[in-house]
Amino acid sequence: MSNNKRTVYVNGDYVPEDEAKVSVFDRGFLFADAVYEVTSVIDGKFLDFDAHTARLERSLNELDMPMPMTRDELLDAHRQLIEMNNVQEGCVYIQVTRGVADRDFIFPEGIAQTVIMFTQAKKLTGEKKGLRVISTPDIRWGRRDIKTVQLLAASIGKTAAKKQGKDDTWLVKEGTVTEGSSNNTYIVTKDGKIVTRHLSNTILPGITRAAVLKLAAEQGLEIEERPFTIEEAKDATEAFMTAATSFVTPVIEIDGTQMSGGIPGPISLRLNEIYIEEGKKTSI
Ligand code: PMP
Repeated sequence: MSNNKRTVYVNGDYVPEDEAKVSVFDRGFLFADAVYEVTSVIDGKFLDFDAHTARLERSLNELDMPMPMTRDELLDAHRQLIEMNNVQEGCVYIQVTRGVADRDFIFPEGIAQTVIMFTQAKKLTGEKKGLRVISTPDIRWGRRDIKTVQLLAASIGKTAAKKQGKDDTWLVKEGTVTEGSSNNTYIVTKDGKIVTRHLSNTILPGITRAAVLKLAAEQGLEIEERPFTIEEAKDATEAFMTAATSFVTPVIEIDGTQMSGGIPGPISLRLNEIYIEEGKKTSI
């Protein structure tokens, strides 16, 4: 698996990554006026493709932007990209900006959107190692339900974790965990309930979250959608997170407190297995 010299998609063309060009006046660059999606690939097929497409459309609509292409055109471009780049396992990113216009805060009208897509080859189905997380303040804006490219706050948090020799950060706002830097967060209580924050504009409605909660319910697990604190999390029997690019990932340490004996918890591991199993059955 190599990401060397990929072919990327730019506004309808498939070009070598080092020849791909976007204007310096692109609003994605000047204002973070852009949204994105990322869909995972296993065995050359996409997991939850339609749910990711629906969320892309919602993110765009919330910012008064249309879908740049139909669902079928999007799927075709995704398929062409993994074919050209020989990606059997990994993910495809799509970034859609409002387009190119002279610098001005007011949304310009009548301009063409910029659409880019690229692949990342990545092993997703291997053995799951548990991650160590630290909590950091959630300093992001108030519309975290829109998947914008404003990822600086998440980047700051994750870099802080890395500097402390840890793997990721859980973001805390007004005393409770919102989500991870790029994932939704969960704990398993002593009586076996899965607790995860309810949907609102404080978190991204994870596509993996929706799929995993449905599978967990089918397994007879009880789910409570509500905020929880870091203290409650430390006291839980297990913790995990979900994202399209990492599925279900066990958490084995929170702010220095060991979780599930310092090894991935059984419910987290089982949910990861089931998600991959079911994902493969319904991938396209
Ligand atoms: N929250 C945030 C802030 C994210 O960036 C992501 C990953 N895109 C998620 C949650 C998980 O969403 P999904 O399962 O759709 O990847």
